[in-house]
Amino acid sequence: VGTKENGQELDTVSEKPDIGSRILVFVRLRPMGKKEREAGSRYCVQTVNRRDVYLTDFANEHDYLRLKRLRGRHFSFDGSFPDSATQQEVYSTTTVKLVEAVLQGRNGSVFCYGATGAGKTYTMLGTVESPGVMVLAIKDIFNKVRQRSFDGNHLIHLSYLEVYNETVKDLLSPGRPLVLREDKQVIALLQKGNQNRMTEPTRANETSSRSHAILQVVVEYRVKDASNNIVNRVGKLSLIDLAGSERALATDQRNLRSLEGANINRSLLALSNCINALVEGKKHIPYRNSKLTQLLKDSLGGACNTIMIANISPSNLSFGETQNTLHWADRAKEIQNKVSSSQLLNISPSFFCFTVLACYANEEIMQ
Ligand code: ADP
Ligand code: MG
Repeated sequence: VGTKENGQELDTVSEKPDIGSRILVFVRLRPMGKKEREAGSRYCVQTVNRRDVYLTDFANEHDYLRLKRLRGRHFSFDGSFPDSATQQEVYSTTTVKLVEAVLQGRNGSVFCYGATGAGKTYTMLGTVESPGVMVLAIKDIFNKVRQRSFDGNHLIHLSYLEVYNETVKDLLSPGRPLVLREDKQVIALLQKGNQNRMTEPTRANETSSRSHAILQVVVEYRVKDASNNIVNRVGKLSLIDLAGSERALATDQRNLRSLEGANINRSLLALSNCINALVEGKKHIPYRNSKLTQLLKDSLGGACNTIMIANISPSNLSFGETQNTLHWADRAKEIQNKVSSSQLLNISPSFFCFTVLACYANEEIMQ
């Protein structure tokens, strides 16, 4: 509605999409970093109308002129966030409805997918000044519970797990989930947990995150049903900060890295198998084949409350990674749009590719 985005006049702002029977896909562009600016980066991505994304490759002057005229390759998602989008905006457009569902006893999950440095952890955890989705969701849950008349009957558990190499590590309280009594200390708690995350140097990035982190918030409460019986309701929100997606492409990594690779493939395969089985309405869903799928078992089912946020850098220096991320996010969206239709068989190959990608990212988390 007449807002400006990356210098473009916009005429419409898309409405918030409803949570439906498919995974919703959002893209978040982060601001240009200092190092990128110093290296003479140019913007190669533009978000428009809170929905579209244009990608241009400034590889040479000829491309620049040609693609500028064409505005580059076009993608359209359930939502796209410009680099000026606030943490609150990202939260309220993506996760707030899942929080509402969880408070009604349903499950939901949000995945951040993207290359190392693309903004996944910023989106999920954020900073003290600009808390991310994990913190805003917990605050929101507490606020909404306080507003309820049956406030006293709620129990909120929290666990923060890391999946690395098919091993699950508790980042907060070895042994059992924490019972959360108030929301105030959440960011400190999660930041402390994040310091325990597995990070190791890779060729691509010195502090590349090698593991998946999963925050699960379980809300349990009692209500009276229509016949005045007291019933227990349990809802679970899973918020997932995946390992850097560039690992899917890494070929020159040895020893430990190749062990990780093998485990990643295993988890990816397990995830893709689960998603395919869910989509096809199979009775048996093979959740037990990887740690990732075991952990997300009750959050993937039906895929009805699942959101993917694809994080990207604006710099032409990350063009390849951004292209891959947008490509996979686009596949995910296509697949979801068609999942319930009779065209399912026609889209299986791309669906598989997406699930491999998603699994890859999730896999380390779930192991
Ligand atoms: P990832 O977890 O995907 O590897 P990070 O979330 O750590 O990437 O982001 C890389 C850097 O960019 C960090 O310094 C982070 O603070 C910064 N950053 C990422 N997204 C944003 C954003 N939307 N606004 C401001 N800074 C951001
Ligand atoms: Mg990170």
